[in-house]
Amino acid sequence: MLMNKCIELTEKYVDCPACGNTFIGNGEGGLVIEEHTFDRWCKCGWKVHVDLREGTEDD
Ligand SMILES: [Zn+2]
Repeated sequence: MLMNKCIELTEKYVDCPACGNTFIGNGEGGLVIEEHTFDRWCKCGWKVHVDLREGTEDD
Protein backbone atom coordinates (compact mmCIF):
# COMPACT_ATOMS: atom_id res chain seq x y z
CA MET A 1 0.00 0.00 0.00
CA LEU A 2 1.16 3.54 -0.67
CA MET A 3 2.71 4.89 2.51
CA ASN A 4 0.77 8.15 2.52
CA LYS A 5 -2.52 6.29 2.02
CA CYS A 6 -1.56 3.84 4.73
CA ILE A 7 -0.91 6.66 7.18
CA GLU A 8 -4.10 8.47 6.18
CA LEU A 9 -6.22 5.37 6.80
CA THR A 10 -4.45 4.49 10.03
CA GLU A 11 -5.02 7.99 11.41
CA LYS A 12 -8.62 8.06 10.19
CA TYR A 13 -9.44 4.77 11.89
CA VAL A 14 -7.16 4.89 14.94
CA ASP A 15 -10.25 5.27 17.13
CA CYS A 16 -13.20 2.98 16.68
CA PRO A 17 -15.98 5.35 15.53
CA ALA A 18 -18.55 3.20 17.29
CA CYS A 19 -17.06 2.97 20.80
CA GLY A 20 -13.81 4.98 20.76
CA ASN A 21 -11.58 2.00 21.51
CA THR A 22 -8.02 2.58 20.31
CA PHE A 23 -6.58 -0.81 21.26
CA ILE A 24 -5.37 -3.48 18.88
CA GLY A 25 -4.57 -7.00 19.96
CA ASN A 26 -5.43 -8.98 23.10
CA GLY A 27 -8.97 -9.41 21.81
CA GLU A 28 -9.58 -5.65 21.65
CA GLY A 29 -9.48 -5.28 17.90
CA GLY A 30 -7.19 -5.53 14.95
CA LEU A 31 -5.45 -3.85 12.09
CA VAL A 32 -4.22 -5.54 8.92
CA ILE A 33 -2.60 -3.67 6.06
CA GLU A 34 -1.81 -5.55 2.89
CA GLU A 35 -0.70 -4.55 -0.57
CA HIS A 36 -4.08 -3.25 -1.72
CA THR A 37 -6.31 -3.55 1.30
CA PHE A 38 -6.76 -2.05 4.75
CA ASP A 39 -8.78 -3.75 7.48
CA ARG A 40 -9.47 -2.41 10.94
CA TRP A 41 -11.92 -3.93 13.38
CA CYS A 42 -13.01 -3.62 16.98
CA LYS A 43 -14.29 -5.95 19.65
CA CYS A 44 -17.60 -4.07 19.65
CA GLY A 45 -18.34 -5.40 16.19
CA TRP A 46 -17.37 -2.38 14.12
CA LYS A 47 -15.10 -3.03 11.17
CA VAL A 48 -13.94 -1.35 7.99
CA HIS A 49 -12.47 -2.76 4.81
CA VAL A 50 -10.82 -0.55 2.21
CA ASP A 51 -9.75 -1.91 -1.16
CA LEU A 52 -7.59 0.53 -3.04
CA ARG A 53 -8.10 -1.30 -6.30
CA GLU A 54 -11.66 0.04 -6.30
CA GLY A 55 -12.10 3.67 -7.19
CA THR A 56 -8.44 4.58 -7.37
CA GLU A 57 -6.48 5.91 -10.28
CA ASP A 58 -3.13 4.94 -8.85
CA ASP A 59 -1.46 1.71 -9.75
ZN1 LIG B 1 -15.55 -0.35 18.95
